[in-house]
Amino acid sequence: MYVNTIKLEKIMECIADPERIRFVASIDRDVSDILPYINSVVKGAIYNKNMPSLTITKGGRLITIHPREVAAGKIIDERDARKVIDCLKKIINDCYERRNEIIPDFEMHRKLTPLDVYKLLPGTNCGKCGEPSCMAFAVKLTNGDAPLNQCEEIFSDTFKEKREVLAKILESTGYQFFHEGAS
Ligand code: SF4
Repeated sequence: MYVNTIKLEKIMECIADPERIRFVASIDRDVSDILPYINSVVKGAIYNKNMPSLTITKGGRLITIHPREVAAGKIIDERDARKVIDCLKKIINDCYERRNEIIPDFEMHRKLTPLDVYKLLPGTNCGKCGEPSCMAFAVKLTNGDAPLNQCEEIFSDTFKEKREVLAKILESTGYQFFHEGAS
């Protein structure tokens, strides 16, 4: 078997939905090579060859496969987490088994949307960024018309976790974080 174990390592509160959880699990081998094959067969997957990583949306859950790790959010409970892990293991192993029949896809098909970004902004609509709402700022950030550090709020300790997730996503999609000269 290509992947034998995906081990649940950490369960945390979900950033996007406080009623749900998120988790991190470790994979017992590097699965980088198989990600373009999964990208080819799973509808709506977002592959980033620079990381590399592959994000899948399944039943409203956002699941990202990294070379040796899986991270997922909007998970109902630990049982649900284990079900997602089993399902991912099956997808990875099936794609590996069928790799000679699948044409690997190295393209990133889905672009980051303002809603993706908005969900990770503070959501206070404080206006400090010069925009009337977090959604208006999300549109600008997604279009590359504003840098992340224009939102002072997200750099406070309160939003540390959201900031880290958003920074990772922005980095993986090649977005600008800071204007030149900004700290
Ligand atoms: S500064 Fe940040 S929290 Fe305030 S409105 Fe702008 S994006 Fe929202």
